[in-house]
Amino acid sequence: MRQEIEITGLNKSFGQGASAFHALSDIDLSIGSGEFFTLLGPSGCGKTTLLRIIAGFEEPSTGVLKVNGKDVTGLGPSKRPINTVFQSYALFPHMSVADNIGFGLKMLGKPKSEIKATVAEMLQLVRMEAMADRLPSEISGGQQQRVALARALAPRPRVLLLDEPLSALDLKLRKEMQSELKRLQSETGITFVFVTHDQEEALTMSDRIAVMSAGEILQLGPPEDIYNAPVNRFVADFIGDTNFLTLRVKGIENGEAVLELPGGKQASARLPNSISPPVGARVTAVIRPEQAEPTAAGQGDMQAVVEAATFFGTDTHLHLLLDDAQGFVLRRQNRPDQPAPAPGAKLGLSFAPGALRVLED
Ligand code: ATP
Repeated sequence: MRQEIEITGLNKSFGQGASAFHALSDIDLSIGSGEFFTLLGPSGCGKTTLLRIIAGFEEPSTGVLKVNGKDVTGLGPSKRPINTVFQSYALFPHMSVADNIGFGLKMLGKPKSEIKATVAEMLQLVRMEAMADRLPSEISGGQQQRVALARALAPRPRVLLLDEPLSALDLKLRKEMQSELKRLQSETGITFVFVTHDQEEALTMSDRIAVMSAGEILQLGPPEDIYNAPVNRFVADFIGDTNFLTLRVKGIENGEAVLELPGGKQASARLPNSISPPVGARVTAVIRPEQAEPTAAGQGDMQAVVEAATFFGTDTHLHLLLDDAQGFVLRRQNRPDQPAPAPGAKLGLSFAPGALRVLED
């Protein structure tokens, strides 16, 4: 894949001397042309700073940024083939939807006929043809967000940066706009760099995700890899629900750890390449709530007692206590003919093959 954005050796500090704050550390990152790329991390991890550096609103302390093979590190925002959609998408209140969308093109001095044609195309793209003449105050929040997107897409930037653009919307609208954004991205082929702290949003929309913490990229990969093979405790904890178990290593076989489970049975767990714990060591292993199956009491890999059951509509989360008093959450799909076990009930647990993984810590 051709690289659209290449970042090498990027650092960013705010302030000077002893009071300097290191917001980004040694970022090396390539984003492919036409990718839907997401920067995901908790508040303060540096994702907005990285996005602002890509946009040109902020200068890096060190490092080089290339867009489409060209070094743009010293260029101002308007000199880059990049546009940004912010969380507060501030449309011009006195301009119609169509005029808002055409505004950037007018500033670029494009001919009237071209502006008209592009605005019509953008209105169609975001499904707002019927509302071209309305003012922003006469359309809903979700529709305003669509207009903001159309306005940013109209000059056909190579890259669109999106800083938490959906966070002001309510849950239902946010879900709708998530699939809308995905559609817009694949229809236009424009590279999207999306910032969010919402892991579900990142998992559902992205081609690849960079998980950030304290100014560093901890893991970078497709959503499936990030979810199924988190490299460390932070990523495992931040993405989805996870069970952490402290288990003793009984042996190493074929590159996998054989671990002693609560209750005495053994199970194999995948090991990251970077570690080889000695026999007898205690390690942290993870397993997702949906990757264990309830079985009849006395059967399966481990035994547990139900402490609490929380109903979530499609599934129920069973909070379990294992034989050695470690907690475990199991996600069980609801079926009308099979009521969820009540608190106090005993059950067994079996793991899907390959579900248990040892973490680097
Ligand atoms: P959020 O999701 O809350 O927006 P974020 O991951 O986008 O968080 P940034 O806005 O990139 O985080 O900020 C990263 C860190 O850099 C924070 O600790 C922030 O306080 C600090 N920071 C950002 N801008 C400045 C500045 N102009 N001067 C000093 N520190 C700053």
